[in-house]
Amino acid sequence: MRATVMYGAGDVRVETVPDARIIEPTDALVTVTRACICGSDLWPYNAMRPREIGNRMGHEFIGLVEAVGREVRTVKRGDLVVAPFAWSDGTCEFCQHGLQTSCLHGGWWGGTELDGGQGEAVRVPQADGTLVALPVGADHALMPSLLTLTDVMGTGHHAALAARVSPGKTVAVVGDGAVGLCGVIAARRLGADRIIMLGRHPDRIALARDFGATDIVSARGETAIEGVRDLTGGLGAHSVLECVGHGEAMLTAVSIARPGGAVGRVGVPQEAAIPNAGPIFYANITIAGGPAPVRAYIEELLPDILDGRIQPGRVFDHVTNLDGVPDGYRAMNERTSIKVMIEF
Ligand SMILES: [Zn+2]
Repeated sequence: MRATVMYGAGDVRVETVPDARIIEPTDALVTVTRACICGSDLWPYNAMRPREIGNRMGHEFIGLVEAVGREVRTVKRGDLVVAPFAWSDGTCEFCQHGLQTSCLHGGWWGGTELDGGQGEAVRVPQADGTLVALPVGADHALMPSLLTLTDVMGTGHHAALAARVSPGKTVAVVGDGAVGLCGVIAARRLGADRIIMLGRHPDRIALARDFGATDIVSARGETAIEGVRDLTGGLGAHSVLECVGHGEAMLTAVSIARPGGAVGRVGVPQEAAIPNAGPIFYANITIAGGPAPVRAYIEELLPDILDGRIQPGRVFDHVTNLDGVPDGYRAMNERTSIKVMIEF
């Protein structure tokens, strides 16, 4: 079969790899029908040291179950399934508490040992805990939005929960990538009164407004901080969604939260420390978040997508096939694309 392999910064190849196959009795074999490229794939795309043995890429996919191991009960051959960006058993202490990203028997797609989503097929470990069958066909019009359940919509929702978004609150979203845009959807869905998007790209701002952003701050750094303070009577936002991960974004996020407010961070941190620890302490600002347990949110978000109440699939502005994946990385890295969908 063919799949995407990263060998170093800027070096993404589509090549022939060993066929995915069932190894454990808890595995499923899934033929990928849709996948995508993630903003977090761009961190190694910019920083990975060259390696002889590359990393299999991709952690967002929908596909058809081809076969299941003898212990698999919840999915069967022929089911269309969505896979969250981490796999998990669904039964351990952490899974029972909705924290599947800390599953005692779980893990992450790709790398050197496991298949990734940006390939023709995937061996899915812990299939019962990981996969969710979808009640639609593989070519359904809602497929782009359903694909966001693998990561960005669930991650935006997690940021909103971590930032304690609730009805009547003022929310600020740092980051106008796919996760930030889904964060706007999530904040509105949870009843936020005002949603301030910090972003500068006209197409992304337009989408943010469609998703429910009420105010836009098109600046960075100190100017952005002042912009949010001006919009909030000098007080700051109740809830801040940090959807980038680098230091400047985190500094902005903690600086625009009001005393007693909360920052929900879902951008993969690129620095060791959280900035402004002193002022955060004296303002009683909560810092929460981490990798979203998106598996915990699929059942909650799925009906809203099926009913058309939310349309997170609009974050996909490019569609390609497997051979177009290296160009897709380039487009997202140059920010000429918000998010690339791969059709198989
Ligand atoms: Zn578990």
